[in-house]
Amino acid sequence: MRSKAEVVVVGGGIMGLAIAYNLARHHGVREITVVEKSYLCGGASGRNGGGVRAQWSSGVNVRLMRESIALCEDFAREMRINVWFRQGGYLFLARSEEKRRALEASVAVQREEGLKTRMLGPAEAKKIVPELSVEGVVAASYNPTDGVVFPWPFVWGYAEGARRLGVEIATHTEVTGFRTKGPRIEAVETNRGVIETGAVVNAAGAWSPQVAKMLGVDLPNRPHRHEICSTEPLKPWLQPLVADLGNGLYFSQSMRGEIVGGISNEQVPPGLNMDSSSEFLRRYAKALTELVPRLGQVKVLRQWAGCYDLTPDANPIVGEVDSVERFYQASGFMGHGFMMAPVIGKRLARLIATGEEDPLFSQWNLRRFREGRLLSEAMIIG
Ligand SMILES: Cc1cc2nc3c(=O)[nH]c(=O)nc-3n(C[C@H](O)[C@H](O)[C@H](O)COP(=O)(O)OP(=O)(O)OC[C@H]3O[C@@H](n4cnc5c(N)ncnc54)[C@H](O)[C@@H]3O)c2cc1C
Repeated sequence: MRSKAEVVVVGGGIMGLAIAYNLARHHGVREITVVEKSYLCGGASGRNGGGVRAQWSSGVNVRLMRESIALCEDFAREMRINVWFRQGGYLFLARSEEKRRALEASVAVQREEGLKTRMLGPAEAKKIVPELSVEGVVAASYNPTDGVVFPWPFVWGYAEGARRLGVEIATHTEVTGFRTKGPRIEAVETNRGVIETGAVVNAAGAWSPQVAKMLGVDLPNRPHRHEICSTEPLKPWLQPLVADLGNGLYFSQSMRGEIVGGISNEQVPPGLNMDSSSEFLRRYAKALTELVPRLGQVKVLRQWAGCYDLTPDANPIVGEVDSVERFYQASGFMGHGFMMAPVIGKRLARLIATGEEDPLFSQWNLRRFREGRLLSEAMIIG
C-alpha cells in the first residue's frame, strides 16, 4: 500500500469509487488510495435494489438525477462493462388524498425541470402493469426514463476504471485513526500502515459517523437496517419499478428475470445490523401478493439486508466540514446513494480538485444542522 497519497478515500462503496474515478479521470489526480475495510460490494452498494429515478420532490434532486441517469446511460460504454441498465420507468402508487397531493406537487416540480412524468388514475396505472390489483389506489405517477441497474458490475466498473487510471484500492484495510496538526490532516492510520495525506473523503456510508468521530466531527446520521429479497427468475412481464407510497413496498424485475424488492419497516431500531429476518419475508410477501396476487406462487431464492444511512432531514451531507481542513463528506444518502453516485462522484471530485463550491449541493453542508436550516424531501422509499 502507498505510504503517501494526494487524496485518501475512506470506503470502497459506489460513492468512494465514483469520487476516486472522477478525481483521476477528470482532474488528473494520480495518487489516490481508496481504503476499504471489507470487500468491494460489502457495504450497502452491494446490497441494494439498483433503482435509479428522477422522480423527486425537490428541484435539486430532480436535476441531479437527470444528470445521473444520463451518466448511467453512458456507463457501459465508458467503463466497458455491462451493468444491465433497463429503463422501464418507476410507477409510484398513492393510497390516500394526502399522498396524492404530495405526488401531484412532486410531479409539478419534475415537469418544470423537463421530465415527462405523468399523473395517472388507477386504471391507467393498471394499463402499465396489468397484473396490479389497484383496489385502494387513488393515484399514481410514472416517469418512463427511470430504471434499474445491477449494482455489482456498476461497483466493479468504477473500481476497474479507477485502477486503470492508477488509483490504488486497498480492500480488507480499515481506517483506524488520523494524525493531525491543528486543523490539518497529516496522515491516515490503517491496520496495514500509515498513509501521509492532506485530503480525506469520508465515503464510509452507514459507518461515516464512526470515521468522522476519529477527527472530532459529529455527524447526525443513523444507520438503519433494510431488508430485501430476490425470487426465482420469471419470463419478463414487469416493465417499471413499482413503489407503493402507502406501505413502502417496492419491487422491480431484473434483466435476469428475478423480482427484487423490499418494504420499509420503521419498527426496526437504528444500528449497524445486517441480519435477515423471517418477519421481513412475511410482511413483504403479504404486501406484494395483495398488490400482485399472481406472485403468490413464486419462490424467494435469496434474502439479505444492508444499512440505509439516514439523516434527520432526509438529505445527504456533502462537502467540506468547518473544523478540519480538506475533510470532505459524502454520506447520508438514505436509500438513494447508488443512483446519486455518478453525479455526486463527478461534482464532488470537481470541488475537491478545484475548491469551487457546487451550487447544486452547497445546501447539503453539515453546518445546516447547526444553523437550523433543515431541508426536506417527500419522495423517500423506505
Ligand atoms: C436494501 C437496500 C436497498 C437499497 N436500494 C437502493 C436503490 O434501489 N437505489 C439506490 O440508489 N440506493 C439504494 N440503496 C441505498 C444505497 O445502497 C446506498 O445509498 C449506497 O450504496 C451508499 O454507497 P456508499 O458508497 O456511500 O456506502 P457503502 O456502499 O456502504 O460503502 C461504504 C464502505 O465503507 C467501508 N468502511 C466503513 N468503515 C470503514 C473504515 N473505518 N475503514 C475503511 N472502510 C470502511 C464499508 O466497509 C463499506 O464498504 C439501498 C440500500 C439498501 C440497504
